[in-house]
Amino acid sequence: MAPAPRRPAGCPSCGQSLSATPELYGTTIECPACQKTLTVPHPQPVPPQLPLAASTPVPAIWNPSVCGVFSLLFGLAIGPWLHSLNWKALGRTDEASKARFWALGLLGVDILRTGYVLTQPKAGTGLGISFVIGLAALLVWIVAAGRKQEREIKGRVPGTFRKRSWMGPIFGSLGYACVWFLACSVTSTSLQRL
Ligand SMILES: [Zn+2]
Repeated sequence: MAPAPRRPAGCPSCGQSLSATPELYGTTIECPACQKTLTVPHPQPVPPQLPLAASTPVPAIWNPSVCGVFSLLFGLAIGPWLHSLNWKALGRTDEASKARFWALGLLGVDILRTGYVLTQPKAGTGLGISFVIGLAALLVWIVAAGRKQEREIKGRVPGTFRKRSWMGPIFGSLGYACVWFLACSVTSTSLQRL
């Protein structure tokens, strides 16, 4: 290991910088410049300079395009919700709250289209129109808001962000889909009893 860099000792009377061998530290000598006596100080180690990049955390985010696939598979609100967490990680709280509003809006669309299917007099009808409405709502979100995050990520220098694990979204989405399915079953059963 290399020794820590040390500041050179200086004469307290004239400021002449002096280099001293370790056996002279703490002893009294005569300054070669001003001839005044001085005690050779023990050198102070220079504090190491920490590189700035190492102390700045790199945000972890999910691929914005793949977030949209989660919306298609598990529920419309999941894509914008993941985008809101991405924006938060990137330090963009304004965009994060906008994405949360989109998530709420798409959750509303999901509730309405599911309600529409469940209230059809004949089971299974209305599925086609429900699918088309969901797809249309997803496209509106992608064009109006989702694409903004894709562009933001593409414009970023590699190394200023890292890929976030998909484990959370996968298990979260499966849980969300299970709760949704249970809610639909309960609603459907209740409607049949009426
Ligand atoms: Zn001196």
